Amino acid sequence: MYILRISSVTKQYKVGRDGRKTVVNGVSLMFPTCGLFAIVGKSGSGKSTLLNMIALMDEPTEGIIYFNNENIHKWKNKRKEEYRNKDIGIIFQGNHLLENESVLFNIMLPALVGGKSEKEAEIAAKNLLKSINFNEKLYSHKCKDLSGGEKERVAILRALINDPKMVLADEPTGALDSDNSHKVMELLKEISKDRLVIMVSHNQQLVDTFANYIIFINDGRIEKIKINEKVKENGEVKSFTKLKKKKSTWIDKLSFSNFKRRFKRNIISMTSLIIGLVSTMLIVGFSFGNGDSVRNRSYHQLDYGVATIYKETSQSIPGTKMSLVQMSRPTLTEISSFQQILDRFYIEPNADCLLSPGSTVTSGNGVLEEMTLSPVYSYNDESINKNLLIKGIIPNEDSFENVIVNQTAYKYLEKTFHSEPIGLELTIHYDYENHYYTEETLNPVITDYFIFDKTVKIVGVVDDFNFLSVPKIYYPYIALKDILIDTFLVNLSTYLSTDITWYDRLLDCSNNDALSSYSYRLFLKDHQDIIYMSDYVESIDEPFKMESSSLLISDTLLDLMSAATIGMELFLAIAILGTALILGIISFSSYSEDKKTSAILTCLGAKKDDIFSIYLTENLFIGLISLILSLIISPFLSIGINKIVTHITSFENIINIPFYRFMNVPLLFPIILIIATMLICILSTYVPLFFSKKISPKEELMEE
Ligand code: ADP
Ligand code: MG
Repeated sequence: MYILRISSVTKQYKVGRDGRKTVVNGVSLMFPTCGLFAIVGKSGSGKSTLLNMIALMDEPTEGIIYFNNENIHKWKNKRKEEYRNKDIGIIFQGNHLLENESVLFNIMLPALVGGKSEKEAEIAAKNLLKSINFNEKLYSHKCKDLSGGEKERVAILRALINDPKMVLADEPTGALDSDNSHKVMELLKEISKDRLVIMVSHNQQLVDTFANYIIFINDGRIEKIKINEKVKENGEVKSFTKLKKKKSTWIDKLSFSNFKRRFKRNIISMTSLIIGLVSTMLIVGFSFGNGDSVRNRSYHQLDYGVATIYKETSQSIPGTKMSLVQMSRPTLTEISSFQQILDRFYIEPNADCLLSPGSTVTSGNGVLEEMTLSPVYSYNDESINKNLLIKGIIPNEDSFENVIVNQTAYKYLEKTFHSEPIGLELTIHYDYENHYYTEETLNPVITDYFIFDKTVKIVGVVDDFNFLSVPKIYYPYIALKDILIDTFLVNLSTYLSTDITWYDRLLDCSNNDALSSYSYRLFLKDHQDIIYMSDYVESIDEPFKMESSSLLISDTLLDLMSAATIGMELFLAIAILGTALILGIISFSSYSEDKKTSAILTCLGAKKDDIFSIYLTENLFIGLISLILSLIISPFLSIGINKIVTHITSFENIINIPFYRFMNVPLLFPIILIIATMLICILSTYVPLFFSKKISPKEELMEE
């Protein structure tokens, strides 16, 4: 019974442009199921080429190689892998062990690749090592630390671990002294008792002592076959048991040992991934957090609830591209709908005309040019955020006796007077002249004067957001309202023969009278109401406009922030691309560096996917560590950055990484991060492998 049949096999290589060189020339051979066969010939006679074709490392140009009557080169990949792993054992010229792995692991490897459990493989490997009395102390040594003879014997045991039907050995004694050569030959002879062993050698004397058959090859042709009568054929073909596929622990083992070996390089991969991931978290945290941060900050002022509402109509000027914009106060009927959507606010006529614009604020004999007056509804209003007070008190009574200033005013006064502004007395003075136009010719205009003259004491300072902020004295509107209700327009009252107060006058003046300030005042409770009201005003058809200093600040800043966010997202895209590129380049170079290992694994029957998995596992491991580190680093970093930002700009929590809830889905962000990291790792492993040249085991393992 013949297990292996070589039928008219010829191998030609291309030389130069169209030259051809015949390396193996019409070889036909038949091999039985056991015995030691030696192929002998000069260097370059085609011995290795012949063996490589049997080992599926090379293909014949012509002819067929049959294993159990099947053409081995016509097999599908799966059968080829099985053949390499279980049917044959290869002892390479130059042994090709995984130098960085232990003796035990090298021998176990084909068993692990074939699906045996680690335990089974270890027992089998140890049995083999014991059977040749291999020094037990060396079991866990790395192969690179072994002597030539030891390495060769390890290589033979590796070829035997899966109990193959056929062992192919290329110059197994080539690099050994005669003592070691004899030991190796004895081992080969021993194993050939129950299986076919084909070995290549150029040492005829050695071969004469051990081989059953000696095949002489010259220039690719069989010259003669000598039968060595000393040795008898013996043994039976063993049955082949198929093993179930188990989880491939050897892949993890090799990945992990690669990871350790390339630790420095992996640190670079991890650093680049960590930079990518941390930037992602911070930038997402920024785009997530800046809105609230800006809004919270812009409402950080005492008059955040004070707004004005007006009507804006425009008329195009015929013949030009310009239009005339007119501001006017809406009628009370027009804004009556506001009362239905919110009930926790006050609508009042805008009394700015009577106090704010032209008032002079003086202290002693100095005029404080920059000081402005800004109303809040009342000091006792619950809407006044007591948290804002940073110095002094918020006065209880709503009168003009005690006032609060903002921080900008406080600093301004401190700088002007070089003394503590709390307790400082200021005089507010304003004369307002109001004209009432009658239809009479004799006395067409009736003029009244509103004279405001009060000395106020500063009792408290409130924090404010100093972007766009001016020195402000906050006065309670209801104190002013009391005055307006109590003070009469003397001349007008006489003319109309009825009592007219300034408050009546404000309400009754026409909506385009300067006295109306062309608007109503809204005193709202909190910033939620401000946003709500402003959204409502925008949603209705009327040409109403709402303005407030907090809205102005937040709108301006939000525009700025969204511009910054776009810039950062662009940076992020580049950072992620760069990270993937760096990872890809690094895993490509690792893969290129390990081509020989991959070739050895292929010859031991490992699947292409399994070999890729080694690199994927390594990269996924890198990804996992980077992700964990990034998840630890970024919260600390965001706290640090937030502290610095708060210190410089007074924005709080500008970075708010949405770990727990993202787009209303719990834990979505970490899940996205995990998926993205895995995806980057998978892509950066497979894309370079996909584009890299297919490994040819023969070329990788060719001995110079
Ligand atoms: P040996 O008997 O020493 O093992 P080989 O089988 O390795 O000889 O090589 C036989 C001949 O084939 C040599 O002359 C070698 O240079 C040539 N050869 C081997 N591989 C290739 C190749 N890929 N391309 C061209 N020539 C090759
Ligand atoms: Mg050779």
